[in-house]
Amino acid sequence: MTPGQHPSPRGELLLDEPLARHTSWRVGGPARRLYRPADAEDLAAFLRGLDPEEPLLWLGLGSNLLVSDAGFAGTVIETQGALDALERDGAQGIRAEAGVSCAKAARFAAKLGLGGIEFLAGIPGTIGGALAMNAGAWGGETWGRVVRVKTIDRRGEIRERGPQDFEIGYRQVRGVPGEWFLEAQFALEPSDADEAMERIRTLLGERGERQPIGLPSCGSVFRNPPGDHAARLIEAAGLKGTREGGAQVSEKHANFIINTGEASARDIARLIVRVRREVEGKSGIRLIPEVHRVGEAGDDE
Ligand SMILES: Cc1cc2nc3c(=O)[nH]c(=O)nc-3n(C[C@H](O)[C@H](O)[C@H](O)COP(=O)(O)OP(=O)(O)OC[C@H]3O[C@@H](n4cnc5c(N)ncnc54)[C@H](O)[C@@H]3O)c2cc1C
Repeated sequence: MTPGQHPSPRGELLLDEPLARHTSWRVGGPARRLYRPADAEDLAAFLRGLDPEEPLLWLGLGSNLLVSDAGFAGTVIETQGALDALERDGAQGIRAEAGVSCAKAARFAAKLGLGGIEFLAGIPGTIGGALAMNAGAWGGETWGRVVRVKTIDRRGEIRERGPQDFEIGYRQVRGVPGEWFLEAQFALEPSDADEAMERIRTLLGERGERQPIGLPSCGSVFRNPPGDHAARLIEAAGLKGTREGGAQVSEKHANFIINTGEASARDIARLIVRVRREVEGKSGIRLIPEVHRVGEAGDDE
């Protein structure tokens, strides 16, 4: 090694790591390997060293993932606490790496007197996850403010891309296969810092009133169908409180499924199937899950 050069990879590698520790539903079997990169350069070196056939899963805060009880037979790249650079970008923007939490980015911008991403404050995920999902709330959507992203592929190549390179929809984003998000630049607008922080407090307060915050969940399980709300349809089908094993349709917000303590991924997957079937039977509307699935959950779907 030449002097001054870092050994690579410099991150942390965990073997047979239970993914239940890394998902907000607190379910999911082990990942064969889980890697937390030291930084973007280290991540590139790690990816270059991987077998090209190695299955890869990118993980932010795991707040929109249903990982099967069998786990993941491949390598998980965990960005949270790893790719965590966050800075002002010009007069009216910020730059955030993929592992920065949405809440941190929203508050950082608000304190700088930059408005437009206050809605991110209540989304318990990372910037990478928000880009992958086009996460949104109260009329705001992640990609509504993104001007540029950096992506990385499994050869460790980093590219700059703009919104025009992606197909962006409601809670879904299609990009170039085999590229993942490293960071994003957001264009914001001047705002009074106190007012922006007040907006964040108000949004968080409303969220606490309507959602079962604090219980293991993945937020909304289904996308809202056009012109309607998944929660309304689930409630109208009489499914509030319905259980499969340790998984339960929340009494507070019918589009949330909570882990009451001992749920398996299979319980959750079965409840998802049951909710879809019963809602379709009563209303004729087939709900589409918003959560991403990893592995087979054995739910007879
Ligand atoms: C209580 C609660 C409330 C919620 N409220 C909302 C809400 O109001 N609005 C909303 O939109 N969502 C909401 N969610 C869902 C969830 O927080 C969002 O979808 C969030 O964007 C997921 O981010 P994450 O970092 O946890 O992603 P993960 O769950 O870790 O991953 C989600 C998907 O993104 C992919 N991914 C993660 N990082 C990257 C990356 N760097 N590059 C490429 N792909 C990547 C993963 O592979 C996976 O497919 C809520 C969840 C909970 C638990």
